[in-house]
Amino acid sequence: MSSIVFISTLARAEQQQWIALLAKLLPDESIVFPEMFSVDQAAEVDIAIVANPDPSILRNFPGLVWVQSLWAGVEALVPSIRQHNQQLEQSKRLQLVRLLDPQMAATMAEAVLAWTLYLHRNMPQYASQQRQKLWQQLPCATAQETRVTVLGAGELGQAAIKVLLQQNYKVSCWSRSEKNIAGVNNYVSVGQLPEALAQTDILINLLPLTAETKGLLNQQLLSNLPCGAKLINFSRGAVIDHPALLELLDSGQISHAVLDVFEQEPLPTDNLLWQHPQITVLPHISGPTNMNTAAQVVADNIIRYRADKVLPATVNLSRGY
Ligand code: NAP
Repeated sequence: MSSIVFISTLARAEQQQWIALLAKLLPDESIVFPEMFSVDQAAEVDIAIVANPDPSILRNFPGLVWVQSLWAGVEALVPSIRQHNQQLEQSKRLQLVRLLDPQMAATMAEAVLAWTLYLHRNMPQYASQQRQKLWQQLPCATAQETRVTVLGAGELGQAAIKVLLQQNYKVSCWSRSEKNIAGVNNYVSVGQLPEALAQTDILINLLPLTAETKGLLNQQLLSNLPCGAKLINFSRGAVIDHPALLELLDSGQISHAVLDVFEQEPLPTDNLLWQHPQITVLPHISGPTNMNTAAQVVADNIIRYRADKVLPATVNLSRGY
């Protein structure tokens, strides 16, 4: 039986729930908390499963080959793994694997569709009109006339694009490398971003948070959106400059924003975003990890690795995603 270390700062009960699920799917593995290993036993461990870990614990396991995150977003882990690797020769460097779960992509795509429809069909305005007992029909473009741009065309972005196309939206996307998705206009460089935004009625952010995307959606860039455009942020709060967003909402350049992710979570009660009439605040619910399907994905990764020593797709630590 081989051993895997489970490193997390989640509540102990949640950690135990994960371990119980994983242990059922991996009967040949012993999945154990870090403090259970002697120094000699720790040296034998090659895989860590992590969820919000204290990264300093990784150093107690010098034989680690890869770290499997239980989350899809790994921006908090990347700097620690980079630092961990600094002193190590190439062949001994730790690899990071993030969660790639088709169920998560499907759930995120569902959320993208739900909140795109919410904005497209003027639901925030009708909710406000009801509060004022105001009977007023608003103009509404067809889906074919509504231009939706998805920033990020990776696991989640591509799943979102698929459902938007099925709903007949006019879809564009922006990514680092070129994509060839039928019916979708693909923009690729930072230089093309202003042009992409100028052709956008609903902008959806699904970019990972990296050195390049931090604060990317700033005043200057967002000002390229047509007057009255709408915004959905489902990836990470820090990709958006929130003070700039507030100014653009107040000026009417952006008419409504749906925000699911914030630099500080939970969003502090005194944060102005809570009260803004043109902002819908969600508590990070667009693409939750499903414990059952995630545990199966992780177990499959480990079973394949034990069989052929080939690692699952790893995070590019220098790019940060
Ligand atoms: P992914 O598969 O790594 O895709 C990232 C996409 O962003 C790729 O298309 C990539 O381009 C593009 N990209 C990254 N940096 C870029 C840059 N500088 N310029 C242009 N394009 C860039 O990630 P994912 O699985 O779709 O997840 C995206 C993010 O969603 C995660 O990092 C996480 O933060 C967030 N998330 C949120 C929730 C939630 O509940 N709110 C749940 C899960 C994940 P290439 O394809 O060319 O590489």
